[in-house]
Amino acid sequence: VSVLEIKDLHVEIEGKEILKGVNLTIKSNEVHAIMGPNGTGKSTLSAAIMGHPKYTVTQGEVLLDGENVLEMEVDERAQAGLFLAMQYPSEISGVTNADFLRSAINAKRGEGNEINLMQFIKKLDKNMEFLEMDLDMAQRYLNEGFSGGEKKRNEILQLMMLEPKFAVLDEIDSGLDIDALKVVSKGINEMRGENFGCLIITHYQRLLNYITPDHVHVMMQGRVVKSGGAELAQRLEKEGYDWIKQELNIQD
Ligand code: ADP
Ligand code: MG
Ligand code: MG
Repeated sequence: VSVLEIKDLHVEIEGKEILKGVNLTIKSNEVHAIMGPNGTGKSTLSAAIMGHPKYTVTQGEVLLDGENVLEMEVDERAQAGLFLAMQYPSEISGVTNADFLRSAINAKRGEGNEINLMQFIKKLDKNMEFLEMDLDMAQRYLNEGFSGGEKKRNEILQLMMLEPKFAVLDEIDSGLDIDALKVVSKGINEMRGENFGCLIITHYQRLLNYITPDHVHVMMQGRVVKSGGAELAQRLEKEGYDWIKQELNIQD
């Protein structure tokens, strides 16, 4: 089992401190969900793990099996087994979805260990079928003219093709209709097992009706202020966040 450890992480954007000491440990056989009101730093956490240049880590560390992720280049993070959804969504002209996937797999596997073309096609077909995707999607240019739902479904396809040790999925559920939400959840559930840890960041509880997280965390004002099991998400759905603010004496 691999471990992703976020330790006392402090992050600034343009001189303003957004994350004020986040602690979180995720094992590669667990699904964690982070919930919280808007503007509390959830996307900042994802961007900092990804290495987005706008976000400055001022203190703390992110370790994957003891190795400092924050010192790695973005492609090294992928090679180490991290999947960062936001890494991929932009349009890349002239690159088909299939080409992109194959080069991402090969970049991860490293030189001399490239995936066999037939193996790749078999795996691609199988996963696209599983995700109920139109096979034409493979030959379309990456993200060009993809609808919001197609982009999210395609992110899950990337996840299933790349088989990372850890994925950070920020708002993978936003803007999805119920059918797309079910397919996205089906893909994530299919990945679950000994070698897949996942951090799902969501503003809404509804995704968690389909993916039962092992741990749920609430983020407020740049910190994880409460953790629990799946029942915590259900309570938040019913009661909102006010009771946590009262419990912890947080003013906003
Ligand atoms: P969440 O994902 O929980 O809604 P974010 O991480 O997106 O929250 O944002 C946390 C805080 O950081 C917010 O107050 C937001 O206004 C601020 N913020 C986010 N991105 C930027 C940016 N690029 N420049 C300045 N402030 C930002
Ligand atoms: Mg966000
Ligand atoms: Mg960074």
